[in-house]
Amino acid sequence: QAKPARGGYAMYVSGQEQESVRRMALMADLQRAIRHDELSLYYQPKVDMASRRLCGAEVLVRWEHPQHGMVATQELILLVEQAGLITRLTTWILEAAFRQCHTWQSAGAGQELAINLSALDLYDSGLVDRIEGLISTWGIAPGLVQFELTESALMADPVGAMETLDRLKRLDVDLFVDDYGTGYSSLSYLQKLPVDGLKIDRSFVTPMAANGDSATIVTSTIELGHNLGLKVVAEGVESEAVWERLALLGCDIAQGYLISRPMPAQQFQDWQQAWR
Ligand code: C2E
Ligand code: CA
Ligand code: CA
Ligand code: CA
Repeated sequence: QAKPARGGYAMYVSGQEQESVRRMALMADLQRAIRHDELSLYYQPKVDMASRRLCGAEVLVRWEHPQHGMVATQELILLVEQAGLITRLTTWILEAAFRQCHTWQSAGAGQELAINLSALDLYDSGLVDRIEGLISTWGIAPGLVQFELTESALMADPVGAMETLDRLKRLDVDLFVDDYGTGYSSLSYLQKLPVDGLKIDRSFVTPMAANGDSATIVTSTIELGHNLGLKVVAEGVESEAVWERLALLGCDIAQGYLISRPMPAQQFQDWQQAWR
């Protein structure tokens, strides 16, 4: 595309250059976004497959940029990590999530919240103390708090990750390995991790009714998880056919568009009333 340059000459900006200009601008806006509450949290229901009861929600951050609209969350996290701002973002997310957890808990509608941690959060030596402080400030029952850590984040620094997980477990929160199946962890490592469950990545779950290889991976992951005494969550459940297959396989918890898309807190509350 031709763009008029300052002197009036057309300047040719390649797609790649344009993309990097856009990313730089976004990065500059991020600081403001964190300060000015352009960020918000969405909640996606998790359902116990055997009872069909709501059993919690995953917390997913959203950034609604005043000019560009909703920024894709995957891109947001990547940008934040590159900009060295992840500690600030995670702190913002933790504070907002615990505040919401407290609100629901006080209203007698205590909700298990699953909060995502980034790979770089595992290198933040202040993380566990901050979480402990928030749990005590807001008077949250530890049973209501879960953290999801991606398999690849854990594998990036297996020894350091183990230490952080041990410290988190001492707070009595539940830990899940996220995006399971995409990160090449070894069985012996998995066995040593102080985690409560596995979350099977949606790249295997969503196509499993139509794709034999995906179905095989999901089947063996559920069996593996159960053999290790772990809870198994399937994300990306988009169809009845997949729900039925997962139920037959004894998968514990399902999450996905079939049940609901992620939604803001108020909408989640309304949804919850209708689901019951
Ligand atoms: P994730 O942890 O694997 O989260 C699940 C993603 O799948 C979410 O995308 C969710 O909206 C989407 N999803 C849920 N059900 C379905 C479904 O049935 N079909 C399809 N196609 N997608 C579904 P989202 O919210 O865009 O987040 C993308 C990733 O960004 C997350 O993947 C997670 O890695 C990261 N992320 C999101 N929120 C946070 C956060 O608060 N902190 C950190 N560190 N990372 C976050
Ligand atoms: Ca997750
Ligand atoms: Ca729990
Ligand atoms: Ca995933």
